[in-house]
Amino acid sequence: MIHLSQFDPEAYAIAQAELERQRNTLELIASENHASAAVLEANASALSDKYAEGYPHKRYYNGCENADRAELLAIDRAKAIFGAEHANVQPHCGTSANIACYMAALGARDKIMGMDLAHGGHLSHGLPINYSGMYYDVTSYTVNTSTERLDMDEIRDLAKRAKPKLIIAGASAYSRTIDFAAFAQIAHEIGAFLLADIAHIAGLVVGKVHPSPVPHADFVTTTTHKTLRGPRGALILCREAWAKKVDSAVFPGLQGGPFMHSILAKAVAFAEAAKPEFAVYAAQIVANARELAAAMTEKGWRVVTGGTDNHMFLIDLRSRKAELTGREAAHWLSNAGIIANKNKIPFDPRPPAQTSGLRFGTPATTSRGMQQAQMRQIAQWIDDILSHDGDEAITTRIAGQVRELGQQFPVPNQE
Ligand SMILES: *Cc1c(COP(=O)(O)O)cnc(C)c1O
Repeated sequence: MIHLSQFDPEAYAIAQAELERQRNTLELIASENHASAAVLEANASALSDKYAEGYPHKRYYNGCENADRAELLAIDRAKAIFGAEHANVQPHCGTSANIACYMAALGARDKIMGMDLAHGGHLSHGLPINYSGMYYDVTSYTVNTSTERLDMDEIRDLAKRAKPKLIIAGASAYSRTIDFAAFAQIAHEIGAFLLADIAHIAGLVVGKVHPSPVPHADFVTTTTHKTLRGPRGALILCREAWAKKVDSAVFPGLQGGPFMHSILAKAVAFAEAAKPEFAVYAAQIVANARELAAAMTEKGWRVVTGGTDNHMFLIDLRSRKAELTGREAAHWLSNAGIIANKNKIPFDPRPPAQTSGLRFGTPATTSRGMQQAQMRQIAQWIDDILSHDGDEAITTRIAGQVRELGQQFPVPNQE
């Protein structure tokens, strides 16, 4: 970053500080990951300067020949890794990808049904203060009270009563396999469309450690920066019959010019995901999450649903410390360089700013090459800190050990 460091030392210092932070801490936030150097280089390429409103060979600007090549490459690779008929790689984020699908399938005030945010859903699935909740009539399903899992019979009953025009299957904080075939069956029974939002699990789907929704859903949306390990952004997959409506919903419906540098970086990430090593990576993410969850359970922290099938899980802090909130626990851990987030657990009596849970995910540590042995070590540190109420001496000792582990397993974009 020679030019940045010379022209704007202040901005350069921020970029360097973030790199140092990533090196010296452990990223356990389930939605985060470390993209490869190749992805980051494409993301910083000259395509950043280019306006390319429209779609390949149908642009509103001239000079788009390289933009066309980038977008066609990303589309072809996305279709190949997901086995989809059509891909739109332009959405800037997962939320706008979802809104584009709503625009394609629904009219104003139509009914949608998604997972309650407080039970693991996403704000774009109908939260009242999000666009999805403001402009559509929302019914939310929850997990089952006793199993804390999605109960497809309960969801069917609710769908039959609410009669939504679109059902959304997908979550941000749910540790179990989602039965997309069962969701499709329910949608079919009531004549609804199905949107599968695989923002969190897309990398697991491509790596074949989670069943794919592509054969079952009318629309599939995903971010590209979570388990998929690409640049920040999103994409939409659908059948050819929906292609036109989806494309016009994204542009000109919702966005102006696409981020062509980001689309080139998505193409690179899809090529990485197509490699056999990526399936090994995806399987290791799940193995690591299982190990971390098992180790936390052994130390007496209750894991919501009792375990995990994917890349993440929630712990119920009340199982060891009745008074401890997620807010406080996440703060103590971050003092030692262990970065996780407070999260509501199902039927949580505490408000979202406090919470009774913590969410842990393994995509980023797995990208650094960590395996089960490191997960055991991390669980030990988490338990030490939480058991001793963030004690300063213990935190300082563990912060040093976290830094040492970080040096052994460098973040992949600095190799
Ligand atoms: C992360 C996420 C999104 C999209 O997030 P953006 O921040 O808008 O990119 C959408 N749906 C689910 C389920 C998510 O977890």
